[in-house]
Amino acid sequence: MQPVRGTHDLLPPEFRKHSRILNVARGEIERAGFEEMATPLMEFRSVFDRTLGDTSDIVTKEMYEIHDRMGEGNIVLRPEGTAGAARAVMSNGLTQSLPLKYFYQGSMFRYERPQKGRLRQFHQMGVELMGVKDPRGDLEVILLAWNIFNALGLESRVQLEINTLGDVESRNAYRSRLLEYLSDFQNELSQDSQIRLQKNPLRILDSKDPQDKEITKNAPKFSEHLNNLSKEFFGRVLEGLEAFQVPFTRNENLVRGLDYYCHTAFEFTTTELGSQGTVLAGGRYDGLFPMMGGPLIPSVGWAGGLDRIAMMLEDILMPRPYVMIAGSDPLMASALKLADLLRHEGFIVDMSYQTQIGKALKYANKISALGALILGEDESQSGVITFKNLDSGDQSTVPQGELVTYLKEMKR
Ligand code: ATP
Ligand code: MG
Repeated sequence: MQPVRGTHDLLPPEFRKHSRILNVARGEIERAGFEEMATPLMEFRSVFDRTLGDTSDIVTKEMYEIHDRMGEGNIVLRPEGTAGAARAVMSNGLTQSLPLKYFYQGSMFRYERPQKGRLRQFHQMGVELMGVKDPRGDLEVILLAWNIFNALGLESRVQLEINTLGDVESRNAYRSRLLEYLSDFQNELSQDSQIRLQKNPLRILDSKDPQDKEITKNAPKFSEHLNNLSKEFFGRVLEGLEAFQVPFTRNENLVRGLDYYCHTAFEFTTTELGSQGTVLAGGRYDGLFPMMGGPLIPSVGWAGGLDRIAMMLEDILMPRPYVMIAGSDPLMASALKLADLLRHEGFIVDMSYQTQIGKALKYANKISALGALILGEDESQSGVITFKNLDSGDQSTVPQGELVTYLKEMKR
């Protein structure tokens, strides 16, 4: 029995890391007035076709199509969260209730070549701040991400890279300059980039092809084609980062693959995960809602890859439990009752279903239990329980009625 290629089981040790990341993130976003929401795993293909653009890798080769009983291939598994969240805002008539501050998390699906940190079903969390055109909105979402990395203890192991894509006017000006430059290299570009050259030359800056990278190294710089408005907008974001002492580096090749982005684009990267080094990425997407046929709703957000962030975390240990052991089958019910009582008092009690005490103790040691609570025939007759401290090996007899007080005393 093999899992589907590119999928991955999250067994408890790894799941604990995902939970830790989400718990930390939920704390941060809640304190900033963001609320969690969820959209379906399935969407109509048009939600992504329209927004991601027909030259994006996601649309051209990475989407999973679903063929349901009607045989219609127009449903896909979501490859990312933003377009679905925007679709939800429109479907639910929320375009007048701005600003909206959302957090989401869940599986995304992309048909790509699986490798370390690159899966076909992966997990993202993300925030979307919709209906805010102020650059402090950009600043706030970046701060949220930064605070999450801080709370996870990863702040010195990630780097914030940031760039601006300017407004539409700047982009058009730059696009023509870039096109002029790239036309000279038309035949040397990768096949994908030759198509991009026609449809969206900016994408070529985002190419991972080594030859493309070589060519774009000397391309004209976007920063030299920004109009004043775009410069001022970006300036305010950077000033904010400085004021909050968030370290960043300017990366002029950071363009973000998607058509709906403008102004701020950023990524948190790490050198620890090889070529899958981007752990969180985002930017401003004022163009998204209009592309979906909606009103202008200036928005900014990011998505973080849980699988990649989890790889950076140390193992998370479980709190040590007590193990409840019944010495015979008929005593199982009373043992469970005692376990339940302790659980209500806040103790972690793991029930052993093994009535052979030796084997049960082996299990207790294997799961690093603090102690074993043994209810045998003798104990049951005299209303006591045997407590065995598994660190010291000490054993004592405790009246059942005093067990809670005894364990509380021990904890202290
Ligand atoms: P990459 O350049 O690594 O392909 P991307 O630009 O496609 O990333 P986004 O669409 O911006 O990624 O998604 C945001 C984050 O989600 C990424 O920074 C990464 O952490 C994570 N992510 C994206 N694709 C995958 C994947 N196939 N497997 C695991 N994590 C992923
Ligand atoms: Mg990708």
